[in-house]
Amino acid sequence: MQKGNISVQTENIFPIIKKFLYSDQEIFLRELVSNATDATSKLVTLARKGEAKGDYSDRTIDIMIDKEAGTLTIRDRGIGMTEEEVKKYLNQVALSSAQDFVDKYQDDASIIGHFGLGFYSAFMVADKVEVVTKSYQDGSTGVRWICAGDPSYEIGEAERDMQGTDVILHISEDSKQYLEEDEIEGLLLKYCRFLPYPIRFGTKTETEYKEFEGEVAEGEEKPEPEKIETEVDNVINNTDPLWKKSPADLTDEDYKAFYRELYPMGEPPMFWIHLNIDYPFHLTGILYFPKVSGKLELQRNKIQLYSNQVYVTDNVSDIVPEFLTLLHGVIDSPDIPLNVSRSYLQADTNVKKITGYITKKVAEKLSSLFKEDRQAYEEKWPDLGVFVKYGMVSEEKFYDRASKFALLENTEGKFFTIEEYCERIKEQQTDKYERLVGIYTADATRQHTLVEAARDRGYDVLKLEHAIDAPTIQTLEQKEDKLTFVRVDSATPDQLVQKDEEKENLLDETQQETITKLFTDAVGTGGTVELKPLDVQDAPVQIVRNEFMRRMKEMQMMQGMDANMFPDSYQVVVNANNPIVKERLLDVEDEATRAENATYLYQLAQLSQQLLTGADLKAFIDRSMKMM
Ligand code: ADP
Ligand code: MG
Repeated sequence: MQKGNISVQTENIFPIIKKFLYSDQEIFLRELVSNATDATSKLVTLARKGEAKGDYSDRTIDIMIDKEAGTLTIRDRGIGMTEEEVKKYLNQVALSSAQDFVDKYQDDASIIGHFGLGFYSAFMVADKVEVVTKSYQDGSTGVRWICAGDPSYEIGEAERDMQGTDVILHISEDSKQYLEEDEIEGLLLKYCRFLPYPIRFGTKTETEYKEFEGEVAEGEEKPEPEKIETEVDNVINNTDPLWKKSPADLTDEDYKAFYRELYPMGEPPMFWIHLNIDYPFHLTGILYFPKVSGKLELQRNKIQLYSNQVYVTDNVSDIVPEFLTLLHGVIDSPDIPLNVSRSYLQADTNVKKITGYITKKVAEKLSSLFKEDRQAYEEKWPDLGVFVKYGMVSEEKFYDRASKFALLENTEGKFFTIEEYCERIKEQQTDKYERLVGIYTADATRQHTLVEAARDRGYDVLKLEHAIDAPTIQTLEQKEDKLTFVRVDSATPDQLVQKDEEKENLLDETQQETITKLFTDAVGTGGTVELKPLDVQDAPVQIVRNEFMRRMKEMQMMQGMDANMFPDSYQVVVNANNPIVKERLLDVEDEATRAENATYLYQLAQLSQQLLTGADLKAFIDRSMKMM
């Protein structure tokens, strides 16, 4: 054996590697198996070009545990290395790139851990790494390289028949879990599930039961079926994952089956997009639209990112726009730079293009579903809507496309595009400022009375009940000229769409003053009182919440501010023209009864909007009993 020193500037980077990568140690296996895959691919390419002659049909990569020796071995049948190559690639290339990497990202351990360092990540879990390799080239001999986790190494000859490489890890005391079958199988399933060559992890027993086929004499019991156990290779991976195939060769059932393979627990997806692009970057993948059914606390991190079929991460938030992280599936791109920091990733032009491409594909798919079968699309809307609205709110480019196929649903369960809806309400719901006023409820059940009151006026009421609807409304108001929204409880029905008509007030000034005073006392700090001449048949007292003030409060609550910082601003609108008001408050002599009646009417209005609770509700009931 020869001895030598690996040339490094720092005396010893191994302690650094160990320290920084501790949290994500397990990626060593991904790194070594992907090196084995690379080596195999290189040999396959050479063989195809006729530059390597021999039978290379067995491309299996073996993962082997030897508990007694305390080793974990990764064996490939790939290109192998000559002695010169070992010196060059393992001593210089691998180590220097590892060195650069650690130097660069010392301050951000999470990044290093996330992306790995190639060959040298082996030293995260091993005290000593042994490589036994033989080049595919004619006349090559076996080479053994040993490095015990410090800058010195040994190199010498080794016995070896087959071309390819064994990387033998002498697992260190504090990483013993990597000698456990379950642990390794788990990691292989996570990182290597779709690698292009078979990954074999020992054997497994397959059990079959064979029915007795011979003759059974009368009165005799048929013998139990025979149990036949066979040892078969335990191949971990699916070497030919669906996203690599041509969409033309695939059926719906293939896509659904692949979804089950990815998410065994998941509900079947609604539909999917098969991505395939070669220029200006390489990307393949399948994105599934899950059923979200109104939930927004979405299961994110479902899209898995692969690089040449090697699993990288399921945190794709830097690569796809936020709203698309609601989708499931896989993206595979060798062009997404992995050995870089997050901030770099966001600035990377390739990543930007990929983001743009995926957004466009998703929009195109939705658009075609909408055009091809509107009814089916409407049926899916409860699941799709959250997703589309989320996209419209968060991505300008997506808005421009989605505004053509986003739907609004009204309280009758009818669906409209934005354009159709504007057309529908134009006549009735244009206000004195020439704005189109969309009226909506955030809770059709609770606001039923108000919804009906608005509809009685000939207005259409939209159902915007989901958490995503508040920001969607804001976005629509910004984007769509002249379109504005008010909630059914933001004004009395006649004022939802402000027109120029003033009603005549049937009360004289003194009467108005008396009533205002009585209600101001009854309402106290609960809101401001406004006496208005409304329709005779409109309710005597109504409570409204100014749209703008309410939205401000909601926004502040969303930002986590104290709800009490911004008090609820209720307006108590008293209908001067309702005969009950006159009868109960003016035609009554007794001061105390008048005050009592004002409180009663106020509470009645509160009750109809479910604003009355606790002690107030009890007082109201007592009062009602007395009046009967
Ligand atoms: P990278 O894979 O990014 O090139 P690594 O540190 O993982 O960096 O590996 C360094 C080099 O060592 C590889 O480029 C390759 O030339 C060589 N190498 C590593 N593992 C193997 C292997 N199993 N068979 C052949 N060559 C290998
Ligand atoms: Mg590598």
